[in-house]
Amino acid sequence: MTVVGLGLPAMPTARPGPVGGPLVDTYGRVATDLRVSLTDRCNLRCAYCMPAEGLDWLPNDALLQPDELIRLLRIAVTRLGITSVRFTGGEPLVVKGLEDLVAATATLLPRPEIALTTNGVGLARRAAGLRRAGLNRVNVSLDTVDPQHFTRVTRRNRLNDVLTGLAGAAAAGLGPIKVNAVLDPVTGLDDSVALLRFCVAHGYQLRIIEQMPLDAGHHWRRDATLYADDVLAALRRHFTLTPDPTPRGSAPAELWLVNGGPAKVGTIASVSHEFCGACDRTRLTADGQVRSCLFSRQETDLRSLLRSGADDCAVEAAWRAAMWAKPAGHGINDPGFVQPVRPMSAIGG
Ligand code: SAM
Ligand code: SF4
Repeated sequence: MTVVGLGLPAMPTARPGPVGGPLVDTYGRVATDLRVSLTDRCNLRCAYCMPAEGLDWLPNDALLQPDELIRLLRIAVTRLGITSVRFTGGEPLVVKGLEDLVAATATLLPRPEIALTTNGVGLARRAAGLRRAGLNRVNVSLDTVDPQHFTRVTRRNRLNDVLTGLAGAAAAGLGPIKVNAVLDPVTGLDDSVALLRFCVAHGYQLRIIEQMPLDAGHHWRRDATLYADDVLAALRRHFTLTPDPTPRGSAPAELWLVNGGPAKVGTIASVSHEFCGACDRTRLTADGQVRSCLFSRQETDLRSLLRSGADDCAVEAAWRAAMWAKPAGHGINDPGFVQPVRPMSAIGG
């Protein structure tokens, strides 16, 4: 018996999770990739993520302190088998001490790969220091290279900062650099063509991400979403796209060779072609909550455990239990889908 559409074996959820070994769920998926949101604050206001006026930010005492976060990272790497850590947000570059956190993460053994997802504002002057601290790679979010479209989507006139941030990251050796684009429903098809030209010219890998129902205002509409297949059709009018022969593994992006390669473009079709069956992620919010999925409606409070004096075994067990209960899929396409309360900026994308 399988869970329809995901190719996952159905397993009884009632039995207790394993005590040691990999961070596994009831469907046999193993989480090795940890996404850590460092803050819910941001210096941009992308329409699909945050309202113009911002949000009620998490109070400082709710946020994990650096020593608490480093302890959780150590537990994740040494006890739970996490091999890859990505810092995100909100905007991780607005967090003081990011370099120290990266450096502390780089001392963990076995040393995880360390990546950053950022909007790129301020990256130009931080890239070399982050590289020295141990950062391996960056993904920079950029939805359009048209200055007017950029200002409309992000509600800030910062396109040049992002472009210099990208160049700074490349100069610092933080590659392969990926550019994450969530396309605007109105201008997105045109934007995608110019973005791909820009990325190919600079050696960045463009990845088009379908907009998901994770906006703060709960305004997402299925019929206003640009799907990966529509974008590929628009790109094919200007480029030859052929499937990348490299096996995809658990990567969310389906890759295409651009004009025969070596340049590639990826589509992350979270809504139209969900890939939850191969998910290898676990998530930690800035206030210390484990989420087994972007779309979780349940969280496991590790911050309270830490602050109540729990030992590493208890924290590990709580994290394992959270992941054991990971749902089969995000459910966006289910009739009874309910959007999570937290928006993307407070979860960590
Ligand atoms: N501020 C950083 C940035 O923009 O890269 C990191 C946090 S942001 C929440 C991480 C990623 O989530 C970005 O690539 C952003 O485009 C994406 N994102 C935000 N809201 C989204 C939504 N509703 N659907 C799909 N992707 C979204
Ligand atoms: Fe900020 Fe990133 Fe959300 Fe844009 S997508 S508002 S840059 S957190």
